[in-house]
Amino acid sequence: SIPLSFFAGIGGASKEGVLVKGSNYLEALSQTKYVVFDKTGTMTQGVFEVIGIHHNKEEEKKILEYAALTESYSSHPISVSLKKAYGKEVDTGRVSDVQEISGNGVTARVDGVLTAVGNAKLMESIGVEYKVCHHLGTVVHIALDGQYAGHILISDRLKPHAKESIEALKRAGIKKTVMLTGDMKKVADQVAGELGISEVYSELLPGDKVEKVEKLLGEKGEKEKLAFVGDGINDAPVLSRADIGIAMGALGSDAAIEAADIVLMDDDPLKIAKAIKISQKCIRIVY
Ligand code: ADP
Ligand code: MG
Repeated sequence: SIPLSFFAGIGGASKEGVLVKGSNYLEALSQTKYVVFDKTGTMTQGVFEVIGIHHNKEEEKKILEYAALTESYSSHPISVSLKKAYGKEVDTGRVSDVQEISGNGVTARVDGVLTAVGNAKLMESIGVEYKVCHHLGTVVHIALDGQYAGHILISDRLKPHAKESIEALKRAGIKKTVMLTGDMKKVADQVAGELGISEVYSELLPGDKVEKVEKLLGEKGEKEKLAFVGDGINDAPVLSRADIGIAMGALGSDAAIEAADIVLMDDDPLKIAKAIKISQKCIRIVY
């Protein structure tokens, strides 16, 4: 039978906006020593703003239009920002052959032109030479008919409680915090530095994130648990692989909420430490 205090614990967590899908996760949470984070949408708001457009010969507006149309069907935070900066309804009748390459970007045909919108790896995969951008921010490269057309520089912001959430985890007895991201090294290092996360791995594909989590699972103590926290865009596999998968409920994808063991209804990372504290208290009552 399930001790009564577990119900109290689950109830207490839900009052904080933390949905725990079973009493076993509450127990696991109390043993958590490693917390691994995704970056975009988890520690950052996942709301990018276009801060610059650098183009070859096409005009600025044209580049943004190709990018927004290529991204018609994507729900990635980068895609959302490009469509917002474009400002007009995307006419999907102009778009065909769309292919979203998880962790890399999107290719399509827009007005008959072959488009590729994404990171350096995407450009390399289609054999397009790209310009290295020295500004701080996430770079979205654009190629048209196999020719480099320029890049759009976008920037995200930390969530209001991001830094506080790492400090609270340390106080709750978490030994190690790690950030995993598909974004570029310079952006990842800057964000991790600002938050006080000591271990950071960048430029990862969704499969690489699973591999890193497996390595960390092997490294931690036998009775210790590892939690992965993500917004779920591209990270449902890693949410399932961790001892405890924690997903963002508001911005996160349905697939992530499905794959997760715990859901943060308001996307606030500070709630992770709160949930751990509740779990520790309720375990103390049980044993
Ligand atoms: P994170 O690990 O930070 O949550 P993702 O794994 O979702 O990031 O994406 C990794 C990288 O792949 C992004 O930083 C971006 O460069 C590229 N990317 C992914 N999806 C898209 C998209 N729809 N449009 C443009 N670039 C994308
Ligand atoms: Mg993400």
